[in-house]
Amino acid sequence: MADEWVFPKGALMAGKRGLIMGVANDKSIAWGIASQLAAQGAELAFTYQGEALEKRVRPLAESVGSQILLECDATNDDHLDAVFDRLKTNWGKLDFLVHSIAFSDKNELKGSFVENTTRENFLRSMDISAFSFVAAGKRASKLMERGGSMITLTYLGAERVLPSYNVMGVAKAALEASMRYMARDLGPAGIRVNAISAGAMRTLAIAGIQGGRGLIATGREWSLMKEDTSMEGIAGCALWLCSDLGRSTTGEVVHVDAGFHVVGLPDTGGE
Ligand code: NAD
Repeated sequence: MADEWVFPKGALMAGKRGLIMGVANDKSIAWGIASQLAAQGAELAFTYQGEALEKRVRPLAESVGSQILLECDATNDDHLDAVFDRLKTNWGKLDFLVHSIAFSDKNELKGSFVENTTRENFLRSMDISAFSFVAAGKRASKLMERGGSMITLTYLGAERVLPSYNVMGVAKAALEASMRYMARDLGPAGIRVNAISAGAMRTLAIAGIQGGRGLIATGREWSLMKEDTSMEGIAGCALWLCSDLGRSTTGEVVHVDAGFHVVGLPDTGGE
């Protein structure tokens, strides 16, 4: 007889409903995660940032049978309210939230952080890349009466200094701290809140960072596994955190970067 903590076959995400925020195209990390969660039986709703992206996101959402696709600019409280009102009407409850949203002016993702960072873009980066998780999480928590899981995407630039990451590193640090406070507040209600710190991936977002390709190449060369971070690995981690497999994990930043984050200096073969 199976132990009570062994999941029945095929039941990982069956009956679970979640919102995916941050798909721009089929290279988006949010799409990798959504595909895996849908394959394991989850029912998904999607948001997209603006009309231009709807054309790309709609066919993807339809390909996994999604019935709910809504515009949501993360800085717009009316949009956020409308999204969660709709989920309440259609579903009544929510089991998980995937937040995979970030933005900063690319003119400030290069060179000197001190010289290039403006007040306006500092605040905007914080709003879109950090506060939006708090804003969405607050609304999502009202639909998680039986507990739930929220995840966001972060990067090593929150903890360490990396070339060009600049103000985005500061926003990711705020995002990670916000995640821990959210986990504190929502823990007693059975809601877990975690962040996945992904290795550099070839997506639209990284194209805005000067030397973004270098972050990918160095991430691979320095990593313990000597390989790129895989979408499979990130999506697998998301599956763990969004399903009941992750039921005792909260307030955590999980690194999915082939071991890049633990390296102090690359291995030069003893020379
Ligand atoms: P992406 O460009 O595919 O996704 C970024 C998403 O943010 C897009 O869907 C975009 O529409 C959305 N967005 C930006 N401003 C918004 C706003 N005002 N309102 C609503 N949505 C908005 O790139 P990605 O790499 O998949 O990025 C997803 C997340 O993963 C981001 O938080 C990013 O910082 C993080 N991340 C990326 C990498 C990487 O190397 N690509 C590594 C670690 C973490």
